[in-house]
Amino acid sequence: MPFSVKHRPLRLWRTLLPWLVGALPMVCGLLIMHWQAGRELQNRSEASAQRVGGQIERILDSASRAASELLPLAGQPCVEEKLALRDQVTRRAFVRSTNLEYRGELYCNSLFGPYSEPVNVDDYVQGKLWLMDGNSVTPGHPLLVYRVSEGERGAITTVDGDHLIGALYLLGTDNQLILQVGQNWIDRSGQVHKGLAPTSEVAASEYVSTRYPFSIHSGYTQGKVGEQMRSEYPALFGLLVMLGAMAAVTCYWQLRRASSPRVELQRAIEANEFIPYFQPVVRHGDYRWAGVEVLMRWQHPREGLVRPDLFIPYAEHSGQIVPMTRQLMARTVEVLAPHAERMADGFHIGINITADHCQDLALLDDCHAFLAAFPKGRVRLTLELTERKLIAPSEVTHALFAGLHDLGVMIAVDDFGTGQSSLAYLRQFQVDYLKIDQSFVAMIGGDALSLHILDSIIELSSKLGLGIVAEGVETEAQRDYLARHNVDFQQGYLFARPMSAEAFIQALEAQGLASASDHQVLIQGG
Ligand code: C2E
Ligand code: CA
Ligand code: CA
Repeated sequence: MPFSVKHRPLRLWRTLLPWLVGALPMVCGLLIMHWQAGRELQNRSEASAQRVGGQIERILDSASRAASELLPLAGQPCVEEKLALRDQVTRRAFVRSTNLEYRGELYCNSLFGPYSEPVNVDDYVQGKLWLMDGNSVTPGHPLLVYRVSEGERGAITTVDGDHLIGALYLLGTDNQLILQVGQNWIDRSGQVHKGLAPTSEVAASEYVSTRYPFSIHSGYTQGKVGEQMRSEYPALFGLLVMLGAMAAVTCYWQLRRASSPRVELQRAIEANEFIPYFQPVVRHGDYRWAGVEVLMRWQHPREGLVRPDLFIPYAEHSGQIVPMTRQLMARTVEVLAPHAERMADGFHIGINITADHCQDLALLDDCHAFLAAFPKGRVRLTLELTERKLIAPSEVTHALFAGLHDLGVMIAVDDFGTGQSSLAYLRQFQVDYLKIDQSFVAMIGGDALSLHILDSIIELSSKLGLGIVAEGVETEAQRDYLARHNVDFQQGYLFARPMSAEAFIQALEAQGLASASDHQVLIQGG
C-alpha cells in the first residue's frame, strides 16, 4: 500500500528526528552558554585575585615603610627607641606592632619595650614575610609579619590578620579566595593552614605578587557554571527552549507533510508514475474488440504496481485526480496513437473521470487534444462517470457537456445500478451508455429475484435508447445470457484482463489478424 506501509526503521527515524532536531538548538545553545559562563567566571576570578592581591600589597606597603624607617634604629638601646616604635604603630594604618632585631634577637617591642626572643630567619619567606598562626599576645589569631634586615640589624612589623581577612572579603563571598605565603595559607575563615592551598575546581586563577613573596588563589566551587547560567541568562534559557520546541514542531510538520498522501501523489505525478492499463470491451455478436477501457495503475518505485482503488480515493479527495487523468490521457495517446491503423473506425476508448473534472472547462481541451492525436473518426472517446458520486448540475457542467457533445465525446454512466441517477440526470448530461455494474452481472446464475433486477436495467436502457455495456463478465454463462438479452458490449476477465501497454499493443496486432469467426480472445494480461 503506497500510503500505509512504512518500514520500521523509517518510522522509528521519523519519530526520533523531531526530538533530535528540537534538542539540537538546545544542546548547542547550552554548550555556548556553558562556554560563555566559564569564560566570564575565569575573567572574574582573575580580576578578583588581582584586586585582592593589590589590597594586600597596599597593606604590606604600610608595614614595609614602617620597618624601613625603623631599620636604622636597630642596635640602639631599646629604652631610647621605644617611642619611635610606638610612633610607627600609631601612624601606620595596618601596623599592629613594631620590633627591632639585632644579631638574631628580637630585643625591642612596641608594646613591651625591652624584650628577648630569637629570630628564626627560616620562618620568613625570602627572609621577609611570615604568615603566623598567632603570637603570645593573641594566640590563634593570624598575623602577617614583615621583616627588613641589613647585616646584623633588622626591623620587624606585624599586620593583624583581620586586615587580611577584610581584604579577602573585599569583593564579597561569591568566590573562593586564599592568601598563600610560603608554606602557609589563610582563607576567609581566618584559620592559618600549612602546605599548599587547594586549587579551585572552576575558573582557578592565581595572582603572584612581584613586590612581596605571596600569592592569591581565586576560583569557584563545582556547579558554579550552572548557577551562573541560570542566574545570568534566564531569558536565553527560555529562548532556547522555545527555539527547540519550534524546531521540533517544524520538523514534525515537515515530516508529516512529506509523508502525506498529497505530497506522495504530487511526487508521483512529477515522476510520471501513473500509467495506463488497458482492458478490451467486446461487441455483441462476434465478440471482437470494439474498444478499450483505460484503467490507471501506479508504477510505485517501492511498492511496485499499485491498484487504483488504493490511491484514487485520496486523489479524488485532494483534487489531484485531475492532473493525474490529464497525464494518463497523454500517455494513452503516446501508446495508442502510433497504432491507430490497427483500430477499426469508431474504436471506443473509455476514460474514467470524476465530478472534479466537471468544475471547469479544462476537460474540453484535454479531450480535444486527445482526439486530435488520432485520424479523424478513428476513435470514439467515451468518458465514464461513476454513478456512485453524482455531478451537481451548474452552468459550467452544462457548458462542459454541451462542448463534449459537440466534440463527439460519448458519456457513459459507470457502475450503473449502484447509485441514484434519475432520468433527468441521464438527460441533463446527455448520457450515451450505461455500464451495468459487475455486481449485477455476477447475479446471472443466481436466484430469480436478482436476475429480475438485471433484466429491468437492460430493459430500461433499451427503452431510454441508451447503449449498454456489461462489465465483470467472467463466465460463458454470463456472456451468453447477456448476448441473449442483446447487451451491446461486454467487458470482463472472460475476454481479457486489464493489461500493460505492450501486451495490449501485441494483442491488438493479433486481433487485426484474427478472423471474424473467432469468438473469444482470451488474453491473460496485467
Ligand atoms: P471501474 O471503472 O468499474 O473499472 C472496472 C474494474 O473492474 C477494474 O478494476 C477492472 O480491472 C475490474 N474488472 C474488469 N473485469 C473484471 C472481471 O471480470 N471481474 C472482476 N472481478 N473485475 C473486473 P480496476 O482496474 O482495479 O479499477 C478499479 C476502479 O478504479 C475502477 O472501477 C474505477 O472506478 C477506478 N479507476 C481506475 N482507473 C481510473 C482512472 O483513470 N480514473 C478514475 N477516476 N478512476 C479510475
Ligand atoms: Ca470504468
Ligand atoms: Ca464499473
